[in-house]
Amino acid sequence: MADLILLTGVSGFIAKHVALKFLSAGYGVRGTLRRLDRAEEVRAALRPDLDAEALARLSFVVCDLERDAGWDAAMAGVVAVVHTASPFPIVQPKDAQDLIRPAVEGTRRVLLAAAKAGVARVVLTSSTVAVMNGRDGVLDEGDWCDPNSGVSAYAQSKVLAERAAWEVAAQSGLALTVINPGFVLGPPLDANFGSSVGVVRRILRGRDPMLPDLSFACVDVRDVAEMHLRAVQRPETAGKRYLAVAGAMAMPEMGRVLQGAYPARRIPTRVAPKVLLRMLGLFDRQIRAILPELGKRPVVSNARARGEMAMEFVAVAEALRASAAWLVANKAV
Ligand code: NDP
Repeated sequence: MADLILLTGVSGFIAKHVALKFLSAGYGVRGTLRRLDRAEEVRAALRPDLDAEALARLSFVVCDLERDAGWDAAMAGVVAVVHTASPFPIVQPKDAQDLIRPAVEGTRRVLLAAAKAGVARVVLTSSTVAVMNGRDGVLDEGDWCDPNSGVSAYAQSKVLAERAAWEVAAQSGLALTVINPGFVLGPPLDANFGSSVGVVRRILRGRDPMLPDLSFACVDVRDVAEMHLRAVQRPETAGKRYLAVAGAMAMPEMGRVLQGAYPARRIPTRVAPKVLLRMLGLFDRQIRAILPELGKRPVVSNARARGEMAMEFVAVAEALRASAAWLVANKAV
């Protein structure tokens, strides 16, 4: 019998790639869904890249991060839990708790159920937002975001969820590895590609005349998924965080890369002036939230992932072009 992994939020953009990596490596994958009627959609997304035997090792259970029901049963017989599920909206909710509660309570619920069932290995998908703290210099896994420093509801949800995971692991003895991906690019497996590839679609659609000088530490989804697999396969990664980042790119530069790949499209490349964004920020909460980040260039180290997981990262421009190629080929723009 193949070793079985419980993968939370298998309908997600990253999680479908994680499922693909584990199934391709010979594992069984039990994916959690909020509604079982999404199962065929997930199977269909993976089918082109898997043979029938590998696809048959994929199964589903219904669990919600905000409810206890189902989690104990979901843990039966699994060798490791890969917890990716967490709300990731592009527009921040009015009430930050709408994001924080499912992320933090859900992480606690999943890890406590794993500990109760005697599952020894857990891998959590956190984020670079749980690392970023505005410090000068190169950030690494020793850096932590301060959730009370005025960061977005999403950033609060990620840093508080990661903290909760480390607390449960310390109390229960779970062997926890945390992956902290930057802004995730690369080819989606289907049209449910989440918020990050949604940003690429927005740039490609060319409806915005200019782009804010906002930089992201970026990474390809295939590398993020590979790191989840390697974390499970390498017990020595337990007790550590691993930044999943290939490099940083500002939005206007993304525009230029995409313009180079699709010269016939009208793609914005001009930088939106700060003064204009400040004015718009008076009326728009989302724009106001990015103002402190304008012009900053995050530098995030991937030395630990390269050194301890032998990762070689797909370049940011290549990951970006791969997102765009999928969007164009699938008429999603
Ligand atoms: P998606 O939005 O594509 O996937 C999110 C997943 O979480 C979906 O499966 C969703 O289920 C599930 N989920 C959300 N709320 C709940 C809930 N209350 N109960 C159960 N499941 C829930 O996002 P991504 O794939 O991009 O992100 C996956 C993970 O990676 C998240 O933890 C995110 O924070 C993290 N991450 C993402 C980055 C990115 O740039 N994409 C960067 C860094 C970290 P449903 O389909 O039912 O909504």
